[in-house]
Amino acid sequence: MQWNPQQVNQGETAVLWVETTRPATIEAIFDGVRLGLIPLDASRAWGLMPVPMWNPVGSRPLVVTARAQDRLESVQEVVRVPIEASAFPEEVLMLPPDRATLLDPQVVRAEWERIRPIFETVTPQRLWEGKFTWPLTGTVTTEFGTRRRYQGSQTYEYHGGLDIAAPEGTPVYAPAAGRVVFSDLVQVRGNLVILDHGMGVHTAYLHMARRDVAVGAEVQPGDKIGEVGSTGLSTGPHLHWEVRVYTVAVNPLQWIAHPWLLPDREYGEQ
Ligand SMILES: [Zn+2]
Repeated sequence: MQWNPQQVNQGETAVLWVETTRPATIEAIFDGVRLGLIPLDASRAWGLMPVPMWNPVGSRPLVVTARAQDRLESVQEVVRVPIEASAFPEEVLMLPPDRATLLDPQVVRAEWERIRPIFETVTPQRLWEGKFTWPLTGTVTTEFGTRRRYQGSQTYEYHGGLDIAAPEGTPVYAPAAGRVVFSDLVQVRGNLVILDHGMGVHTAYLHMARRDVAVGAEVQPGDKIGEVGSTGLSTGPHLHWEVRVYTVAVNPLQWIAHPWLLPDREYGEQ
């Protein structure tokens, strides 16, 4: 098996290829997260390996199981993937008492329970090609992975997306081809659109002023999906943009920087 990049940082995504000597059904679990591998042929599979931003650093276990299709036999291999620390910024937020109630854990949890099954759905095909493009023109105000601590609290919260500030009404575009799988107004995330790009990859667009796409629509890179706003738990017009792989929030900047997702064509040619 092989993966790329060789050293993966917290919050980044790697590509994993597995090859067996005989036809087999291949499964992989990285540090407790089941990866949705996709067969290339009877003895090869590939998929994405997201590393959560809070994942422990060091050598972390990747468990690959191959079950022979002709008999009830399975082979398991454990390798160690080196995970490097990411230098995430840190900030302490002081919330006025009236705004603190917006973080009601029950509301937050109920909304996550509603959208989690969408992120968990894996469309086996890859619907996009190449690099992602920026969904809008604006200024990054809070980076991915920023560790936020609210006043009086010793526990950190990790920022699972990129905050991009722009004037109200700024168009928001699809960064890659995909399908609209969620479009609704919800309490915390405000006007929310979620795109499914296949292979377990989803992108989410939060706090928009309006949504311009309906569930089921297919989008191409550059198609308008909404406009920047400040709906939901937001203090000013901005887009909170998330990239999730098998529900794990990963750094969107890596997806903009790398056209690295073509192993179904380039497998073995590295
Ligand atoms: Zn945000």
